[in-house]
Amino acid sequence: MPSTPSRETLPVAVVGGGFSGTLLTINLLRHGARVVLIERAVTQMATGLAFGTARPEHLLNVRAANMSAFPDDLGHFVRWLGVSGSDAVNRFVPRRIYGEYLRDLLDETLAAADGRGAVKAGEATAARFEDERVVLTLDGSEELACRTVVLALGNFPPSLHPALSDLPPEICFTNPWQAAGYPRLDAVNEVLLLGSGLTAIDGVLSLERAGYRGRYTALSRRGLKPRSHALSGPSVERVAAPEARGSQLLQQVRARASQVEWRVAVDELRPHTQNIWRRHDHAGQARFLRHLRPYWDVHRHRLAPEIGEQIAALEREGRLRFVAGKLVSATPENGPENGSARVIWRPRGTDDRDSVQVGLIVTCTGPDGDLTHASDPLIRDLLQQRRVRADAHRLGLDVSHTGNVLDAWGERQDDLFAVGPITKGEAWEIVAVPDIRRQVWDLARYLTNAHWVEGEGL
Ligand SMILES: Cc1cc2nc3c(=O)[nH]c(=O)nc-3n(C[C@H](O)[C@H](O)[C@H](O)COP(=O)(O)OP(=O)(O)OC[C@H]3O[C@@H](n4cnc5c(N)ncnc54)[C@H](O)[C@@H]3O)c2cc1C
Repeated sequence: MPSTPSRETLPVAVVGGGFSGTLLTINLLRHGARVVLIERAVTQMATGLAFGTARPEHLLNVRAANMSAFPDDLGHFVRWLGVSGSDAVNRFVPRRIYGEYLRDLLDETLAAADGRGAVKAGEATAARFEDERVVLTLDGSEELACRTVVLALGNFPPSLHPALSDLPPEICFTNPWQAAGYPRLDAVNEVLLLGSGLTAIDGVLSLERAGYRGRYTALSRRGLKPRSHALSGPSVERVAAPEARGSQLLQQVRARASQVEWRVAVDELRPHTQNIWRRHDHAGQARFLRHLRPYWDVHRHRLAPEIGEQIAALEREGRLRFVAGKLVSATPENGPENGSARVIWRPRGTDDRDSVQVGLIVTCTGPDGDLTHASDPLIRDLLQQRRVRADAHRLGLDVSHTGNVLDAWGERQDDLFAVGPITKGEAWEIVAVPDIRRQVWDLARYLTNAHWVEGEGL
């Protein structure tokens, strides 16, 4: 009878091969661990949703100089790009180039890992927790034993607005990054984008690239649109963490923005944002999410200047408008073959109704963090076993400061971790590369005990 391998010889299983899972794998391998990286969408291996796009018009929204994969080597990405000089390192390069960087890094690290690392195509659909190991089920049948599972699943997809549920699939799309493009585009002269953030901007860029020359209405609760980065990077000094909370903190930031460029005032907060979030209780965090989040998002997550200019030009030409309101209904018109929909919304702050007839609706509302809506088999399985629970704000999974997933009773689990945007409830600022690279760096050190060796956390 074959003997069961000891826990130490089993790999860490990283579920999800996007930026978070790939970079965690690379860091773990660099620390001598055994790792299996599991990705269900082979074309997204190493790149995930954000950097898997093949479209050259999709640019990074962070300057190349800030996109290194490693917090201890901030020049790594620009060296890989082979550029120097302030103009070149401050550019916003296409996201697919960043995807190539990640793929290169993964390949190189796997090659140097003496067989300790493996990538596996497949979907992790269930997990069985035993005393000394976890057994993952892949694609509903194959089993993989590991010592720890790290969930790097990315965001959960947006749920369809109930008002859109009766529309035929030719009219209504939930994925603004459609690889296959949109059918019957030449018959469309009005598009509704539901949402007005960076995702909606990606939707506009893809449609423009596909030759669409009609009008767009971007509908969102407040009608806000993302701001642009300055042409050259704001020079941000490191400032002390602000002491104030809640509305006093807001006043301080406003006052600071009147003294320095607003981008500087926002960027100065960046190193402190996670701690500011953690210092607020759930009620304070909920107030931020309810009242300030949309304003924070448009100032914090900015467009590359050239894309900001393209969007402004579309507005000037009268082809793109941002409207504030609430979607009321969307009714199919003219039959499915040359179909369109009559969309009705309630403009913000009124009881009026406004409407537009559109040939295409693209949902750009951003992820739905509520676990209970997730159709993902692995999450459904973990929920059923009471191994996961939603964080207080339903932004994703409830995790500890070190990334241990909390079970239904709030207990930390030492064989189940999570990284990336699904841990937003704990860290808030954990969606962009500069924050995730630090999170996975820390977790790799934690899982390989490097943090003890070098005296951290003592
Ligand atoms: C369109 C877009 C553009 C962005 N641009 C930038 C930018 O310019 N700069 C920046 O700093 N940040 C950017 N971000 C933010 C940031 O980089 C992302 O949040 C980050 O890449 C998230 O990576 P992830 O690996 O956590 O998630 P994802 O990229 O979503 O990867 C998760 C992966 O897990 C896989 N998966 C899920 N469940 C399973 C399962 N059960 N089994 C196997 N595989 C599974 C999925 O197929 C997916 O490939 C962008 C985000 C988006 C969405």
